[in-house]
Amino acid sequence: MKTIIEPFRIKVVEPLKLTTRAEREAALHKAGMNLFLIPAEDVLIDLLTDSGTGAMSSEQWAGVMRGDESYAGARSYFRFAAKLEEITGFEHVIPTHQGRASERILFELVGGPNKVIPNNNHFDTTRANIEHSGAEALDLVIEEGRDPRSRHPFKGNLDLDKLEALFRDVGADRIPLVMVTVTNNSGGGQPVSLENLHGVRKICDAHDTPMYLDACRFAENAYFIKLREEGQSRRATRAIVREMFDLVDGATISAKKDGIVNIGGVLLLRDEALCREARNVLILTEGFPTYGGLAGRDLEAMAQGFEEVLDEDYLNYRIRSTAYLGEKLLSAGIQIVEPPGGHAIYLDAANFLPHIPTEQFPGQALACALYLHAGIRGCEIGSVMFGEAASMELVRLAIPRRVYTQSQIDYVIEALVEVHQKRSSIKGMQIVEQPPTLRHFTARFAEISC
Ligand SMILES: *Cc1c(COP(=O)(O)O)cnc(C)c1O
Repeated sequence: MKTIIEPFRIKVVEPLKLTTRAEREAALHKAGMNLFLIPAEDVLIDLLTDSGTGAMSSEQWAGVMRGDESYAGARSYFRFAAKLEEITGFEHVIPTHQGRASERILFELVGGPNKVIPNNNHFDTTRANIEHSGAEALDLVIEEGRDPRSRHPFKGNLDLDKLEALFRDVGADRIPLVMVTVTNNSGGGQPVSLENLHGVRKICDAHDTPMYLDACRFAENAYFIKLREEGQSRRATRAIVREMFDLVDGATISAKKDGIVNIGGVLLLRDEALCREARNVLILTEGFPTYGGLAGRDLEAMAQGFEEVLDEDYLNYRIRSTAYLGEKLLSAGIQIVEPPGGHAIYLDAANFLPHIPTEQFPGQALACALYLHAGIRGCEIGSVMFGEAASMELVRLAIPRRVYTQSQIDYVIEALVEVHQKRSSIKGMQIVEQPPTLRHFTARFAEISC
């Protein structure tokens, strides 16, 4: 059979509220044209993020009931730590409330003024935490990774020549670690090859510098390696995952992605002394090292989620269903970042709205137009989010895990085709109010009337 079905059935349903165009217009106006500020109830299909929006399984909910809420040394912590060690090989497993908490702790310890931290592409919170520490965050993705049309199979790869040049230019003492994001969220959810990871490791070894993963989507990245990298097709995804983690000295993980939970994060560290320091910072702001700002039930759900995400039937469904959306859009003449990524489809807003210049935020304009037309919420990933560091003007349609059916995705496709047909009527935007950092979450916009 060619049809790939959802490898689960629905046990609990959550009703969706249908809204009228007038209601959506009012909601958008009230939110200052910022989709982060719209009540979720007024959204029909919510593709804002795949973070923490997945559906937990019956086994995860069973784990929630089993959760041990002891303050210290809870059974749930040991189950969580053992599962993470089994999958990643890391002995030191620190739970945190989400990915950015892991980042904040790590960069408080290794960041600081005059330091430079390279990555393929830093995620927004990673960049913000590095900059908050006083360090500089650099994006060194390969050139193909910046070209929305390149069909390179591993567009998330880090440019090894640029990394070598960076070590030559600034010197290893200013580079506390090299990070690689798998899959590369800000670069279109594109995977990084094993070969590239080995290449980064080699350069790090030559300069005696630690290598870290931003491993939020480690399972999706490993499955892409299995599908696309020479010599990997017969290996179990689990074995590829292990090879990825064996290469590095540490990792930050948001369990809200491939952990398939609604809240949770992990910090993995190889170095014992650094781990002790990290646990001290953890106690200060997150909690005791065996719960890290979470409830025992959250640790149970994470342990189970990290196991389920490695099921290859699940991964096949996940990668294929995301590609389905991307391929249908491409055949309707809507440009996306090619090839489709793991967790999301990225619309090329600059191509969609050629009449709107970068300074008028074509991504923001497109995201608002899609909401207005059909109640679908996507996320601008471009000049609003990254300012002048943005290399592309994109709208991300992130697919929550195990949540939407194929007919709901068909609705998204139809809506986008209709918006595309009347794209010339969409207007550019200007910012009327913004905070000093991470402005995309709270900035307010107005349409530019011309
Ligand atoms: C989501 C994400 C983070 C941050 O995780 P949070 O749980 O949202 O704090 C960091 N890096 C990448 C690549 C992500 O996708």
